[in-house]
Amino acid sequence: MQVLHNISLKQYNTFGIDVKARYFAELYSDNDIAAFFGSLQREMMPVLILGGGSNVLFTKDFQGSVACIRSKGIVKLMEDEHHVYLKIAAGEVWDDVVKYAVEHGLGGIENLSLIPGNAGAGPVQNIGAYGVELKDVLYSVEVADVIARHYRAFRPAECELAYRTSIFKKQGKDRFVITSLCLKLDKQPVLKLDYGDIRKELDQAGIKQPTLSAVRDIIIKIRSGKLPDPAVLGNAGSFFMNPFITADEHARLIKDFPSMPSFSSGELLKVPAAWLIGQCGFKGRRIGDAGVHEQQPLVLVNYGNASGREILALADDIISSVKQKFGIDLEKEVNVI
Ligand SMILES: Cc1cc2nc3c(=O)[nH]c(=O)nc-3n(C[C@H](O)[C@H](O)[C@H](O)COP(=O)(O)OP(=O)(O)OC[C@H]3O[C@@H](n4cnc5c(N)ncnc54)[C@H](O)[C@@H]3O)c2cc1C
Repeated sequence: MQVLHNISLKQYNTFGIDVKARYFAELYSDNDIAAFFGSLQREMMPVLILGGGSNVLFTKDFQGSVACIRSKGIVKLMEDEHHVYLKIAAGEVWDDVVKYAVEHGLGGIENLSLIPGNAGAGPVQNIGAYGVELKDVLYSVEVADVIARHYRAFRPAECELAYRTSIFKKQGKDRFVITSLCLKLDKQPVLKLDYGDIRKELDQAGIKQPTLSAVRDIIIKIRSGKLPDPAVLGNAGSFFMNPFITADEHARLIKDFPSMPSFSSGELLKVPAAWLIGQCGFKGRRIGDAGVHEQQPLVLVNYGNASGREILALADDIISSVKQKFGIDLEKEVNVI
């Protein structure tokens, strides 16, 4: 393991923001993780754990250490009549994990195809797409507790997984380094097709009895057509979470905005943040190199040389406009650093 000084993070975050880390290390194993945290000097703190950098916005140089987790390995831990339990090292690329599961006939994560980033970041915001969340298949998470200085395992209930959040994004942030996760996958997959355009696309492709790989291919096709590729246009996916409102708030808003879409979620209603942002006139807005994507107003983009602060200023502008027009608080999904 090598600790480098004054390293540009431009290639380590999908927004392509050019800031520097005072110290920078790539950690390829649990031994590297232990050695790195065991050797931390005061001037190397704080530490930011980084995976693929697809859910962060850097707004300034990082005056501590950035530790990129690069450990690899997908291992079958055990198997019963219905399930296979896969242990996945935190540094595995998430989409490689999905590909592996699909190729081995294991169901549960095919709808999470093409989500960028590493497996280790999956539990942090309980990644989700097309009606599936990581919590549906998560069996356990192994972490290095860098404060208590020991390893421990979390069962799903202890992870406090909810919509785009978990203990690792809240009170466990900067304390628990996720080293691996265990997924419980189905040997007899039950496909989830009733979300977004999955069924429509399967019909159009003439697929009557979809397989896991057909679903994966369709999801990849849908996502590629909708979301900007970070390799081409810097972004971190959805910048905001969809807000939840009460029935009373909904009744008040629908009078003024009869076309406002909403989806019931328990006692609350979820309102698409993209619609709210579009209604405030931000779709396709560009200020310098910071912009709101033309088709997906939930996605903020870097057209080239935007700074993190410029993107953050645009995000804050969106938040206050939505608040002013609808009285709804938008929350950032992306981790601002
Ligand atoms: C085009 C695009 C589409 C996207 N679509 C989706 C989507 O459909 N659904 C979805 O949920 N997300 C989506 N995302 C967001 C992102 O891909 C996920 O949040 C992903 O899990 C982030 O992984 P990462 O390795 O890049 O994390 P990073 O950006 O490196 O880190 C994110 C956070 O997790 C922490 N972290 C990372 N690794 C560890 C670890 N090993 N231990 C402890 N903490 C850690 C970091 O400190 C940081 O706070 C999208 C992003 C892009 C660019």
